[in-house]
Amino acid sequence: MRPTVLCFSGLDPSGGAGLQADIEAIGQSGAHAAIACTALTIQNSQQVFGFQATSKQLLLAQANAVVIDLPIRCVKSGMLGTTENIVALAEFLAEHPYYLYVLDPVLVANSGGSLGDQATLAKAFQQLMPFATLVTPNTVELYALTGEHDIELATKKLLEMGAKAVLVKGGHEDTPEYIRNALYIQGELISETTCTRLEGEYHGSGCSLASYIAGRLAQGDNIQQAVNHAETWLFGVLQHAESPVPNGQKIPKRF
Ligand code: PLP
Repeated sequence: MRPTVLCFSGLDPSGGAGLQADIEAIGQSGAHAAIACTALTIQNSQQVFGFQATSKQLLLAQANAVVIDLPIRCVKSGMLGTTENIVALAEFLAEHPYYLYVLDPVLVANSGGSLGDQATLAKAFQQLMPFATLVTPNTVELYALTGEHDIELATKKLLEMGAKAVLVKGGHEDTPEYIRNALYIQGELISETTCTRLEGEYHGSGCSLASYIAGRLAQGDNIQQAVNHAETWLFGVLQHAESPVPNGQKIPKRF
């Protein structure tokens, strides 16, 4: 059986982000995706209307059911929704220290809609940092997680919280022509990659990137290889993204 990534992520009924993005990206990376669902959200490509989080007991029961029969190599988390779910994941990771772990610190939807209380989630995410093989914040998340407003300082702080590596995604920076991502491993800036900024807003681009990385890690790539593969794949996927409505976010075409 293919190496498996166990995703802790929420359902987005539009299919752009969340667990559907994870399943599609991980499938495209060559790995198998298993899901422990953290929340059911109500949203479309334009707006988040609300969500209901899974209970801690239900979340852990889902994860524990697949641990015993799937070849899990890596855990990936996206929307966790509540502090209880973050604590549940920390307990789960403490019980399985041999799993690789990609932490996508989702605080808010790209449309601006709430996926949980931002300040509370940002604080609780600190508990997950010591388990993280790689954290994948955009700069808005990076600053919210650390209270710093400088990329270098904020990344240093995230690494001090225990994360082994950080991929800082530059999509929210004021660079109209390009997007620059920076990969830090154990305190060192390892690589910077720049790509053309594509027009429009994309729903689930962050989920897709983090999940593809997790899929590659599960198959034996090192962090830098996994990130390089995922960035190349994501650019193609976004180039072919589809717009359901003129003012909605585009849905990445991951197949
Ligand atoms: N997870 C869920 C369930 C979501 O609904 C969203 C955004 O709407 C995200 C994660 C984050 O999406 P993105 O990859 O666009 O940051």
